[in-house]
Amino acid sequence: MSNRQTSTDVILIGAGVMSATLGALLKELAPEWEIKVFEKLANAGEESSNEWNNAGTGHAALCELNYTSEKSDGSVDVSKAIKINEQFQLSKQFWSYLVNKNVIQNPQDFIMPIPHMSLVQGEKDVAFLKKRFEALSKNPLFQGMEFSTDPEKLKKWMPLIMEGRTSHEPMAATKIESGTDVNFGALTRILFEHLKSKHVQIHYKHSVENIKRANDGLWELKVRNVDSGVVEHHAAKFVFIGGGGGSLPLLQKTGIPESKRIGGFPVSGLFMVCKNPEVIEKHHAKVYGKAKVGAPPMSVPHLDTRYINGEKTLLFGPFAGFSPKFLKTGSYFDLIGSVKPNNVLTMLAAGIKEMALTKYLIQQVMLSNEKRMEELREFIPNAKSEDWDIIVAGQRVQVIKDTETGGKGTLQFGTEVVSAADGSIAALLGASPGASTAVHVMLEVLEKCFPEQMHVWEAKIKEMVPSYGISLAGKPELFQQIDASTSETLGLCKKKLVYS
Ligand SMILES: Cc1cc2nc3c(=O)[nH]c(=O)nc-3n(C[C@H](O)[C@H](O)[C@H](O)COP(=O)(O)OP(=O)(O)OC[C@H]3O[C@@H](n4cnc5c(N)ncnc54)[C@H](O)[C@@H]3O)c2cc1C
Repeated sequence: MSNRQTSTDVILIGAGVMSATLGALLKELAPEWEIKVFEKLANAGEESSNEWNNAGTGHAALCELNYTSEKSDGSVDVSKAIKINEQFQLSKQFWSYLVNKNVIQNPQDFIMPIPHMSLVQGEKDVAFLKKRFEALSKNPLFQGMEFSTDPEKLKKWMPLIMEGRTSHEPMAATKIESGTDVNFGALTRILFEHLKSKHVQIHYKHSVENIKRANDGLWELKVRNVDSGVVEHHAAKFVFIGGGGGSLPLLQKTGIPESKRIGGFPVSGLFMVCKNPEVIEKHHAKVYGKAKVGAPPMSVPHLDTRYINGEKTLLFGPFAGFSPKFLKTGSYFDLIGSVKPNNVLTMLAAGIKEMALTKYLIQQVMLSNEKRMEELREFIPNAKSEDWDIIVAGQRVQVIKDTETGGKGTLQFGTEVVSAADGSIAALLGASPGASTAVHVMLEVLEKCFPEQMHVWEAKIKEMVPSYGISLAGKPELFQQIDASTSETLGLCKKKLVYS
């Protein structure tokens, strides 16, 4: 016998940026659908989506060197950079639509323009950056990118980084003005306020403990009220598992075939945050360097101007590390609890393959503050320990699965939508490029789970996201038109952009 208390059209698990985005899309596409949200914490956007738990980079491959790789013939492969840039354009278009609809009153509450720069040192990396620049700057999506090896120009671009530099090694940087800093925590909270105003029932301090399929085909959730301990049962026709790092254990509970042979590898993070206003004022950019040999791509060091709570601040990091928790607020038993008979071989294979990575992450955890300062001084030679504090960032759970190219137990660094064959349940796993591509990823959830509705919804989707289904890299005129309009609506254009 079922203990079911309520049944509804849609349940979103987790109040992070992904559920917020899916909820906002669904409220436009199917306003009559009843939606419920269950979140175990007291507020929206408290885990990875929180502004202090991620780097707030609007990932558009404008400065992240790990999105472009050198091919064996020496040329630079920019296909991933183009893909990520196009995905970020979808987010900007949906956010603009929400601004125009007055759902977002002031875009500067969550998005600010900030130059994005890449910085390298040493002849080999300078040559790579030049080739990367030449390959990207031909593309309309990267118009306006500049390259320089001139120390005087670099001093103008990044005075704090160039001050006190004694090394005579060659340096090079690229700079592009169209970068952004995004406060994903603020965005999540704005979207949840909007959902509340649209009568979405949001239950904070409610933890989902189990998910199973009932005889009538609905998904039934066992939910515990965190304060009272009382257990409730709620059912829905469609469930989205947007639990961030907590998604994998919930997906495993569904028992769907698609959830088998998947594991998770948690990577923790730390940022250094500057508390000296004079130092903060001297820097105005997000400057990304190159990941150290053996380091995972998500630990590329960067020095970022951020806008948090209306104030300009400066963060450096992230320093990756190892913790068995799947969420910052998770349990030390998360990793071991996720090992199941169906994924144990996959997990063991990954353990053997990724021994070097595990060793690297453990070494990172052991770093002393002075060692971290040394890494910071590679960016800011004059950095003083007393100007910097350490804060703990969010957890990133990387997907481990068997792939044709990588074999058994391959560690994935992207995001992955896993859904049941009948589209009744979907989960989002993985963390990169993350929140920046939330709109693209949630449109993928809709495509996978609601194929029949998609042709009815398509016109509305195109109204909200005009480049949906179109590669902007191949349509320079359309890109210019859309970019000019989203930049204006989101308050991102300081000067009129000139396209060649
Ligand atoms: C160090 C770091 C740096 C990053 N930098 C960037 C960046 O610069 N740019 C970028 O675009 N992305 C970045 N990301 C990635 C980005 O933060 C994430 O992709 C994004 O926030 C994930 O959103 P989410 O909604 O899936 O998860 P979350 O924001 O983690 O939300 C999941 C929610 O689900 C809740 N939950 C979990 N389990 C349960 C349960 N059983 N019952 C009820 N509720 C539950 C959690 O409490 C949480 O509130 C970074 C991440 C980290 C950790």
